[in-house]
Amino acid sequence: MRFTVAIDGPAAAGKGTISRAVAARFGFAHLDTGALYRAVGVKGGDPVVAAQTLGPQDLAREDLRTGAAGQAASKVAAIPEVRAALVQFQREFARREGGAVLDGRDIGTVICPDAEVKLFVTASPEVRAHRRWLELGGDEREVLADVRERDARDMNRADAPLRPAEDALVLDTSEMGVDAAVQAACDLIAARRR
Ligand code: C5P
Repeated sequence: MRFTVAIDGPAAAGKGTISRAVAARFGFAHLDTGALYRAVGVKGGDPVVAAQTLGPQDLAREDLRTGAAGQAASKVAAIPEVRAALVQFQREFARREGGAVLDGRDIGTVICPDAEVKLFVTASPEVRAHRRWLELGGDEREVLADVRERDARDMNRADAPLRPAEDALVLDTSEMGVDAAVQAACDLIAARRR
């Protein structure tokens, strides 16, 4: 059985939590595609070469979740050759036997336009910054500035900008909370699998 769930949205909207819950509930494999860009961003050297030679050891680094890695990721993610180098791996993952959940920015629009289920998870910048601050600490105003800067870069880049696919279900987790969003996602997937 091949079944792809595409979950896109801005930083700290709840994509990771929803993706992990959905993957556990349905027994699907999960790929956090942001980790690919983070790994390219922190690897150093030519980012195109880094993307072309990315390996398991790069994805096992412990510094991938830091704010600096997120910023580095969104800079290298604007380079078309970096994105191109990561497409095939993501598409193969998406069509693996047993079902897959991929979360990122362009899964429903570019990587898997034929995904069986597409979600766009969002929340206000303030809510997202607060969540990221609870996770990483630091100065909350700086975290908000960081979120806004990354949103602007991700939404305004020419190649694969962050936006909902036309057929995506939009879930605003500032209004409904992540638990209710998980339930809505599971209900939609269950309905599509029948
Ligand atoms: O989701 P996460 O915060 O880990 O993503 C880090 C950065 O990687 C994003 O800000 C974005 O620039 C980039 N990204 C992307 N396309 C994806 C996933 C992440 O451009 N599918």
